[in-house]
Amino acid sequence: MASIFGHGLVGFTLSKVVDSVSNRVLLFLAIASAILPDLDVIAFKLNIPYSHPLGHRGFTHSIFFAIIWAILLALLFGKNRKQIFGIVIFLSTVSHGLLDALTSGGKGIGFFIPFDNSRYFFPYQVIKVSPLGLRKFFSEWGIQVILSELKYIAIPCSIILITLFILKKTK
Ligand SMILES: [Zn+2]
Repeated sequence: MASIFGHGLVGFTLSKVVDSVSNRVLLFLAIASAILPDLDVIAFKLNIPYSHPLGHRGFTHSIFFAIIWAILLALLFGKNRKQIFGIVIFLSTVSHGLLDALTSGGKGIGFFIPFDNSRYFFPYQVIKVSPLGLRKFFSEWGIQVILSELKYIAIPCSIILITLFILKKTK
């Protein structure tokens, strides 16, 4: 994974870009959905192998999961804005696997599970993979993660958010 901060920031940015009224519930759901796929690390505790379809970076990181999850949350929370909720939640959830596919470690992402169990990476793996434990995160490794995420996630997201802010002000 990228770190939970990197994933969460992308969810936040996507929600701000797509949802013109910045609904708070949707903002929260977008951040949570961008982080959620990594709950599958529980697979390691359950002795499910990494490369199994239900293993880490498997089903919860797939496009199919993102669609089901988006429909579910849109129906539950979307009220009269189900379409916007669905789009933002789908993009936030799917962004997780896309970011992971840019990271430098672990196994690839099972984008097409349950239809194809292969794992994929992008050709450019520019984001330093984040350690799974908190203690390891506050280390030399953690610093490298932060630096790569600043460059490839935080700065691009900030530019988008600032542009959006200026556009709204000048309307
Ligand atoms: Zn992940």
